[in-house]
Amino acid sequence: MFSGERCDILKGMKDQTKTIVALSTPAGRGAIAIIRLSGARSHELLRELFRPFGTLSPNVLTLGIIDADGVRDKVMAVIFSAPKSYTGEDMAEVHCHGSPEIATRIIRGFIAHGAVAAEPGEFTKRAFLAGKLSLDEAEAVGDLIAAQSASQINAAFDAMQGRVSGEITAVYDAVLEVVGAFEAAVDYPEEDIEEQTAEEARGRLTAAYGRLKALADTYADGEKIRGGVRVAIVGVPNAGKSSLLNRLLGRARAIVTANAGTTRDTIEESYEYKGVLFTLVDTAGIRETADEAERAGVERSASAAKTAHIVLRVTDLTSPSTVGVETSGKIIDVYNKSDLVDAKPIGIVISAATGEGIDDLREAIYSHAISGSADGYGLTDARHYDLVLSALGELSAALGELGEVPLDCVLVGLKNALHFLGSVTGANATEDVIDNIFSKFCVGK
Ligand code: GDP
Repeated sequence: MFSGERCDILKGMKDQTKTIVALSTPAGRGAIAIIRLSGARSHELLRELFRPFGTLSPNVLTLGIIDADGVRDKVMAVIFSAPKSYTGEDMAEVHCHGSPEIATRIIRGFIAHGAVAAEPGEFTKRAFLAGKLSLDEAEAVGDLIAAQSASQINAAFDAMQGRVSGEITAVYDAVLEVVGAFEAAVDYPEEDIEEQTAEEARGRLTAAYGRLKALADTYADGEKIRGGVRVAIVGVPNAGKSSLLNRLLGRARAIVTANAGTTRDTIEESYEYKGVLFTLVDTAGIRETADEAERAGVERSASAAKTAHIVLRVTDLTSPSTVGVETSGKIIDVYNKSDLVDAKPIGIVISAATGEGIDDLREAIYSHAISGSADGYGLTDARHYDLVLSALGELSAALGELGEVPLDCVLVGLKNALHFLGSVTGANATEDVIDNIFSKFCVGK
């Protein structure tokens, strides 16, 4: 549905006809380095430098010798023919020995023969411009590479497979149909069909709104799955915050002493639970202090708590005193040092020293952070969420206007909704937005 519009973007964008080259594996020493070429001259450039031992045919790795920039290496190479390639263009890959020196010289060799160094994300950008991927699917490729937990990988994989674009496109098509019907009705006012058209449209728009709202609702979990859940640990000095951090991580990361005020800076460390990444922030104990460094630490505690999704407010059961917390997240009260007292309060009671109650606490943190109401993974990206909210706003306003104002007025809002939806998938994203998204990718992707 988007190919025509995307062609217009393509025409306006930088020269896509050049053959680009880049290292697609990380810089550094390894077993293998992979160099990729994309563009009309890819196959020809490979043949300039590479002597295969057999016949070089599409999609088959072939052994041979590459001779580039004064060095030779025994490598595997493969060609892909347009449109059956990642970028949709002719492509080639060289799998050489993983020495940065060899890889650099091979790239230099291709450049000497007319290739140009690829910009960050240029391979994926070409795939998008060729209609191989929607914009959100391309963004999911970036998320997949950046993923640090199982759920981040799975969410990015689902998005890459079109989970988000599939929903958005279904809503887009439904709204587009209503827009078509309205335009026809507006063109033939004498037939007095506006009222009937408006009534027919109500059901369709209500369904489209519901579907889009369900997608928007997945963001509450999706945002945390993509970015991780921030958990701040606060409490008075010596409550056992650093001991708790070490327990939750399962290793001695923070220094634990019996001296109050040991933790002055914030310490951030992550653990994975049920596939979700949790980033713990151990903060300075909150108390009045004349020590300048400690005071700065206390201020950081306050700001860590403010921006956290979850705040663990730790109370020492042997000398109970609770701190006030300002946060937009959820507060979980944790009672520590249960091994030292007989009377236990109701709530989450733990011993950071013995490990008692830690499993229940991990589960409590998880269930406070992730509602699990979402059917699998959904929206995870703030850009997509903002656009979906804007589209929902337009659809809701249009539904309110139906039957109250002339159809051509309702049309304005519906077209805005189409614009927002199209910006998610890239159907009508601007050149700036596209450039900005791909510039965040690494070179070679
Ligand atoms: P923080 O200042 O809040 O980070 O507290 P720490 O984690 O540094 O702990 C302060 C002191 O309390 C240390 O001597 C810890 O060994 C001790 N402590 C922490 N948690 C427990 C616990 O559950 N039981 C006992 N017996 N001691 C604990």
